[in-house]
Amino acid sequence: MDKIKMTTPLVEMDGDEMTRILWKMIKDELLNPFIDLKTEYYDLGLEHRNETDDQVTVDSAEATKKYGVAVKCATITPNAARMTEYNLKEMWKSPNGTIRAILDGTVFRAPIVVKGIEPCVRNWKKPITIARHAYGDVYKGSEIKIPGAGTCEIVYTNEKGEETRELIHNFAGAGIVQGMHNLCGSIESFARSCFNYALDTKQDLWFATKDTISKKYDHTFKDIFQEIFEAEYKEKFEQAGITYFYTLIDDAVARVMKSEGGYIWACKNYDGDVMSDMVSSAFGSLAMMTSVLVSPDGNYEYEAAHGTVQRHYYKHLEGEETSTNSVATIFAWTGALRKRGELDQLPELCAFADKLDQATVQTIEEGKMTKDLAQITTNPNPVVLNSADFIKAVRTTLEAIL
Ligand code: NAP
Ligand code: MG
Repeated sequence: MDKIKMTTPLVEMDGDEMTRILWKMIKDELLNPFIDLKTEYYDLGLEHRNETDDQVTVDSAEATKKYGVAVKCATITPNAARMTEYNLKEMWKSPNGTIRAILDGTVFRAPIVVKGIEPCVRNWKKPITIARHAYGDVYKGSEIKIPGAGTCEIVYTNEKGEETRELIHNFAGAGIVQGMHNLCGSIESFARSCFNYALDTKQDLWFATKDTISKKYDHTFKDIFQEIFEAEYKEKFEQAGITYFYTLIDDAVARVMKSEGGYIWACKNYDGDVMSDMVSSAFGSLAMMTSVLVSPDGNYEYEAAHGTVQRHYYKHLEGEETSTNSVATIFAWTGALRKRGELDQLPELCAFADKLDQATVQTIEEGKMTKDLAQITTNPNPVVLNSADFIKAVRTTLEAIL
């Protein structure tokens, strides 16, 4: 069989520890035998980030802007322990943070639904994708502990030195105060990323805030989404047969629990932090989640939602067998290959990505899985495979499908 050809390279961001081991196995077993894989390779492994003073991370993000599609392996975000372990020159910043700052986007996370790994919420039949705004609000807040009686105000001073004031509270005794902000530009790009992703995946978009209580702050989010929807997306949504639905956050939570899934839920920063952990744990596991960063100008970076699985890596180094779940990393590759195929009009590449997804799901549904899934499956007799054997089992299924 001829290998599938690619025209534009994918930006390949290699990473650390156990996921770096899985990365190579996936390429060797599931990609290289079938695709004439074209990538521009960036080694984001911590050693190489340290050697290049983290320039490699910046270069990989710039390459993503040039080519449009990247696939990223999980990477170590250094802490004090890593400083000595890797003899680092500096405590380099989180690569995801650096890449997000350059690409300016929204992170979409969706569970990978498999029979035998059932959501705790019985009526959820389809995945629920969380789109989390990743700028501002309490994550960029300033806070004061009020020691005793006194007045607290918000003061805005414009460039001419004119002040606008708003009373927060006349304190009679001790208390606390918090100031937070967001930027209209950031909210606009969040809105566009969500609308584009809904069109891309042909799913309805839900958005919710607390605009009845927060009549200026949250209401601005609601208004910006509505204005951009009316001006740029209304017709496209009608053509695609999908809807944009705004409601209050408490109403949204109640509806989500009663729904059967199959939509994108756009969340403000804090809501997204809290709700994505609720949704992902209710669906099973972080290793069964897809994660993609979408920038407002249409660049895509696919990754796994979990970390480098350090504990398994140390076992691996000691020659012990590991049973690490590679599903999220496989889906990061297929997501990127499918997007590359769409952009370059390579239907064969898109079809291959679909079949590899199908082979991965089918392998698990036939009862062959890694230990993390065997512990939660409703399948009474799962076969627990090690890291390498799971990937080989997926290859066997894939060859049968092809
Ligand atoms: P982690 O790698 O997500 O793993 C935490 C635990 O979750 C593992 O010990 C394992 O549990 C389970 N787990 C996670 N992924 C799994 C998989 N694919 N298959 C099976 N089990 C899985 O988090 P961490 O150990 O706290 O962090 C390790 C490193 O990852 C850190 O240096 C951190 O900076 C980095 N990190 C990177 C990213 C990213 O690049 N996107 C995200 C988060 C963390 P058991 O040990 O019980 O089997
Ligand atoms: Mg969190």
